[in-house]
Formats: sequence, structure tokens, C-alpha cells
Amino acid sequence: MNSKIWLSSPHMGGAEHQFVQEAFDTNWVAPLGPHVDGFEKDLSDFLGGNQHVAVLSSGTGALHLALVMLNIGPTDEVFCQSMTFSASANPIKYVGATPVFIDSEKDTWNIDPNYLEDAIKNRIADGKKPKAIIVVHLYGMPAKMKEITEIAGKYEIPVIEDAAEALGSHINGQMCGTMGTMSILSFNGNKIITTSGGGALVSSDKQYIDMSKFLATQARDDAPHYQHSHIGYNYRMSNISAGIGRGQMQVLPSRINKRRDIFDQYVTHFGGAPGVSFLEEPKGFFSNRWLSTLTIDPLKANGVTREKLRLALFENNIESRPLWKPMHLQPVFKNCLFFGNNVSDKLFENGLCLPSGSNLSDNDLERVFTIMKATFRF
Ligand SMILES: *Cc1c(COP(=O)(O)O)cnc(C)c1O
Repeated sequence: MNSKIWLSSPHMGGAEHQFVQEAFDTNWVAPLGPHVDGFEKDLSDFLGGNQHVAVLSSGTGALHLALVMLNIGPTDEVFCQSMTFSASANPIKYVGATPVFIDSEKDTWNIDPNYLEDAIKNRIADGKKPKAIIVVHLYGMPAKMKEITEIAGKYEIPVIEDAAEALGSHINGQMCGTMGTMSILSFNGNKIITTSGGGALVSSDKQYIDMSKFLATQARDDAPHYQHSHIGYNYRMSNISAGIGRGQMQVLPSRINKRRDIFDQYVTHFGGAPGVSFLEEPKGFFSNRWLSTLTIDPLKANGVTREKLRLALFENNIESRPLWKPMHLQPVFKNCLFFGNNVSDKLFENGLCLPSGSNLSDNDLERVFTIMKATFRF
């Protein structure tokens, strides 16, 4: 059997080891230390230099803290893009609030500004103005942030930008992760760079970041004994993980180039296959192409479906995965409100994520292409 080809696996650059060794040598084996500060500085620089950053134990934790700091609680509603990973929505429940899900639009697969505004008007009419809007840049493709932030501004609703999949993506040079009231990043093992597990909260407002660092380290008041006037969390990133992150930052630009190159190769080979479509970048949009994805129109693809392709790859020890199953279709959220018209349902039905890791060899990619060609008979 050929060795397993993964969708997206960790890809170390080389310097990570030295940073981790340095943490051991200096005994900074703790959730604070010079690598934590260094990684935050690296991220802030990468994002353009005007951002404050707190590195945390996960992207999910970063979202949780963002909702806590916006004082969102049990009587509140929070809007969230339906088509996303459950980690975008779960923190809404952590604070006891109610999620309301919004459909995607076809140009970016992200939150549809029209349905967003319809939904805001609808909820305001019921006396339930949403307390925040969680926007996601799926697979690295930026959402229509200009339209979204205009609407959010008009109704004075904070935007939480879930940029977990979009480090390095931008719109006309403005980086994803800098366009929300607060933004979050993830360094989980399958993301474009990884710290083995980790995340970050980003904001141009230093108060949020200072507060998040305080809350993430058990909310200890300034006193010689342990004194607390807030509920705290244990969400800070360790100095060891941050050392891995500093090494990964050195190779982030090359990781983005490689992921984009892999996407281009899929388009070159299969752009003309019957029924197959790839998501193009709208003008001015730059995607890090975290995962290469395609959709298959089963009426035009001579009987090939995304499931048929997935199984053909699986039988050859190649991992692929359907697009995110929208949250409004998830059993756990089945009673939540949804505004939309089946765009995300259709994407889920017909879309597939293909092997996309920056450590795939030419040989690995050839194996994937061969199976795909045989399946499409193309
Ligand atoms: C990975 C991911 C998260 C969660 O990040 P973790 O660091 O794994 O907690 C949140 N949102 C999206 C869209 C993600 O892909």
C-alpha cells in the first residue's frame, strides 16, 4: 500500500527546534516567557505592525474571550456564518448566548451581506439586536469585509473576525486578522502554520488585548496573595509552543506560496473537467489557499459526484473531506434561527477539500492527480 497522503499535516521549517531548545536551556517552560513576547511581536509585524496580539492556547479560546469581553451573556443573540467549523459557533454557547446562523454567498463562500442585513432587521424588529457578528474566511478566502463592516457599522454591532484559516490572506493589502473589532487566529496542527495547538486574539485596541492576557491567566488582581474580582481562564500559550510558532513564522511566506502553487496545479489539471469548478479570487482578494477545494455539479460531471471522488481517493490511501457541514444542518444547532437560501447546503453537498499540505511532494501530488483523472476519465 502507498503511504498515506493527508489533507494538511504539520510542516516544520527547521528553526523550531532551536527555539524550543532555547526554552529548555533557559528553563522558560511556562505559559509566559521570551518566546511568547517574541511570537506576539512576529505576528503583529506580519499583520502590518498596528495590531496588538495575545497568543493563547487555541483559536476557540480566543473566540470565547472575545465574547466574554463584549459582555455577551444568556439573554443575547450572536450572528455567525453557518458554513464553518463548529469552533466558530461553540463559544456562543459557552457564554450562554443564542447563535443565529447566516448563509454564504457564491463569490467567497462566506457570510452573505444581503442575508446579514435582512437578519439584523428581522431580529431588531423582535427587540433582539445581535450583540456581535462572527465572520469567517473559509479555506483562506477573505469574506466581503467592506460590505460586512459597513452594515455592522450602520447598526453599531461589533464584528469578530475568525481568521483561523486565513493567516496571510488579504484584501487589497489589508490582512485578514486586522479587520474586526477583534480577530482570532489558530495554530492547530492542520493550519497553515502550527504550534502543535494554539491560537491568538488580535485587535488594534490595546485594551482588549491587555484584558485578554489578564483573563487568560486566571484573572489575578494585583496583590501579593491570590485575589480575584473577575472569573478567569487558563488560556495562555506556553513558551514552548510559542517557540515553535517563532520558527514557523520564518517560513510562513513560503508556506503560502506553496499552498497557492498546489491550488494552481489542481486548476491547471482539472479546471476543464466537466462539471468541476474552482473558487476564483474576486478582484483585489488574495487567498492563502489553506485548503484547495472544488465543487462538482453532478448533472454535468458524467455521473461523478464529490462522494464518488472522495471514495476513489480514500481507496488509494488519500485523505480528502467534504466542505464544512453548515451549522444550521448540525443536530446540535437544529433549533437555531437561520437566514439564507441553501447556498451553503449546496456547497456542502457538492464540494470537496483536496490534499493541500505544503509538505506534499511532487510525487504525492502526481498520485492524487492520477486518481482524479481516472475518476473523471479526463
Ligand atoms: C481551526 C478553526 C478554529 C479553531 O481553532 P483552534 O485553534 O483549533 O481552537 C476556529 N474557526 C475556524 C474556522 C477554524 O478552522
